[in-house]
Amino acid sequence: MNTKFSGGTALITGASSGIGAVYADRLARRGYDLVLVARNAERLNTLAERIRVDTGRSVTTVAADLVNPVDLRRVEQILRDDNGITVLVNNAGIGGAAPLLDSEVDTMETMIDLNVTALTRLTYAAVPGFVDRGVGTIVNIASIVAISPEVLNGVYGGTKAFVLAFSQSLKHELGSKGVTIQAVLPGATRTEFWDIAGQPVDNLPQEIVMSVDDLVDAALSGLDQGEFVTIPSLPDVADWAAFDGARLHLAPKLSSQKPAERYART
Ligand code: NAP
Repeated sequence: MNTKFSGGTALITGASSGIGAVYADRLARRGYDLVLVARNAERLNTLAERIRVDTGRSVTTVAADLVNPVDLRRVEQILRDDNGITVLVNNAGIGGAAPLLDSEVDTMETMIDLNVTALTRLTYAAVPGFVDRGVGTIVNIASIVAISPEVLNGVYGGTKAFVLAFSQSLKHELGSKGVTIQAVLPGATRTEFWDIAGQPVDNLPQEIVMSVDDLVDAALSGLDQGEFVTIPSLPDVADWAAFDGARLHLAPKLSSQKPAERYART
């Protein structure tokens, strides 16, 4: 789908800063009205006012903590009730840099609640309307750690592997029903994410850190080009095709009546 020529409303989670805030700016410039979701109402309102002035689009803000079940269900209801929503950007997320032995399990659970549970419930809320109307786009912000979980905290990598696998399944199930799915796998991107994750972004080799504007513009270019998976940093898209091709090559061999020969009882 080419979002340049589509209308309607985009609901963006985690829109108060970083990647989500830039999606808000870019989608408004492409002609979308917006519903912006995050916890920090003041930041959301400041961004919304700037976008209204710059683009003339209608922008609604929803202060919601997506880890809180009551708030999450309130946002789900918006997705069910507002027939004008044509795009869902599942962007809200938190990460971590600490290894397992240095991480609090309660913090890990909160990460799963936001990165996995909220994303899943919001998708379930949006999809039936998208299918009924035969149009809709879901952009899931995963991460390169989805395929490289050794890089940061392992639970973070696990949550993003979920986002990628869930997106693959969504594409498989919904691709023929008018619903466009994109999974975006950013590498290190200069946002507040890093401070919150406990790893200052300035401590990273700067040649691996992308600006948030470049990241979102590349991700939207990938969407315009019809990509399902967009990895903005990856120089040669054939490398992803080979990686995914290897996965698909395995698929028909992964279930059989008998164990493989190498496991034969001796
Ligand atoms: P960010 O600037 O910290 O943005 C995170 C957004 O999520 C903020 O708007 C934050 O707003 C919102 N958020 C956090 N907790 C929330 C909650 N409980 N309920 C609702 N909203 C919540 O970081 P970012 O880099 O833009 O992150 C966006 C996404 O990109 C995340 O999914 C992240 O995993 C992914 N990503 C980032 C990088 C990177 O290097 N930056 C790389 C790969 C993937 P409030 O605090 O106002 O709630």
